[in-house]
Amino acid sequence: SGFRSMALSPSMLKALALARYHTPSPIQAEFIPKALDGLDVLGQAKTGTGKTAAFGIPLIEMLEARGRGPQAIILAPTRELTQQIVVEIKKLAQNRADVAICGLYGGEPIDRQIRALSQGIDIAVGTPGRVLDHIERHTLYLGDIFHVVLDEADRMLDIGFRPDIERILRKVPTPHQTMLLSATISPEIRTLSHRYMHEPVELNL
Ligand code: AMP
Repeated sequence: SGFRSMALSPSMLKALALARYHTPSPIQAEFIPKALDGLDVLGQAKTGTGKTAAFGIPLIEMLEARGRGPQAIILAPTRELTQQIVVEIKKLAQNRADVAICGLYGGEPIDRQIRALSQGIDIAVGTPGRVLDHIERHTLYLGDIFHVVLDEADRMLDIGFRPDIERILRKVPTPHQTMLLSATISPEIRTLSHRYMHEPVELNL
């Protein structure tokens, strides 16, 4: 039962033990197997439920050999949440020297991010505005993206990031997997899901 029944890699099981994650939270128990199957997942989840690891564990497990750009992009509403996601994913990937993650957000000089991107990354985590900035500067290449995560999607829409999110999603090649997490599933979230997700599995946790 638990994480051991999920067909996770030895390096992931070791990272979970080091993080003292002994039992999957309810959202993790439901979300991780569906995500590992490659399905689109629409999850209603509040913060504090372990939602970051719910998408982070499968993302890390599904990564393949690095191409020109990252294979996964995670969009989040704020710099603070972006930084928290980076910390959590680094913890989960602590035994994976081959996995590089970069946070892309405003409020810090863009040069550090450009350097990290030019050295090659596997997972990009960022706010929509700064991610678009990198796309326009050609410092972020989306042609290798196979997994998209929209975290706290309702907050991103509240902030007014919808046009930015749609501009980014239109640049992601097809097919790809989309995971959307939101505290509430409003009509606007439904519209986004209908437009950009493929027969999503819906989880209310
Ligand atoms: P989140 O909802 O992603 O912000 O996570 C809330 C907190 O729970 C974070 O501090 C995580 O490090 C922690 N956490 C996530 N999954 C587990 C787990 N399976 N067991 C114990 N703690 C966890």
